[in-house]
Amino acid sequence: MPMTMSKIDGCDVIDCAYNMDRQCHTPAITVGDGKCAMCDTYTKADRKGGASDVIGGVGACRESDCIHNLALECNAGNIHVGFHQNHADCETYTRR
Ligand code: SF4
Repeated sequence: MPMTMSKIDGCDVIDCAYNMDRQCHTPAITVGDGKCAMCDTYTKADRKGGASDVIGGVGACRESDCIHNLALECNAGNIHVGFHQNHADCETYTRR
């Protein structure tokens, strides 16, 4: 069965360069650093990036212990990203 990319239904990390109107505007983020389900694409910059007509998705996810993770890909359908300490995390992460 062909894979469909999980979409980011919202992101609370408004200081990220790719965040406009609490939506992610880069085509594909990478999630997980082995310690937590962090958004590895979170970027602080002087000006906004991404494309306003793009809604972000999950390109790859290293959180193999998440129930939505299959072969290091996200199968959740939709995820939400929010603040965790001083970075951005996938809040849909659910430990197996
Ligand atoms: S829901 Fe799970 S598999 Fe999907 S991006 Fe978040 S941590 Fe990765």
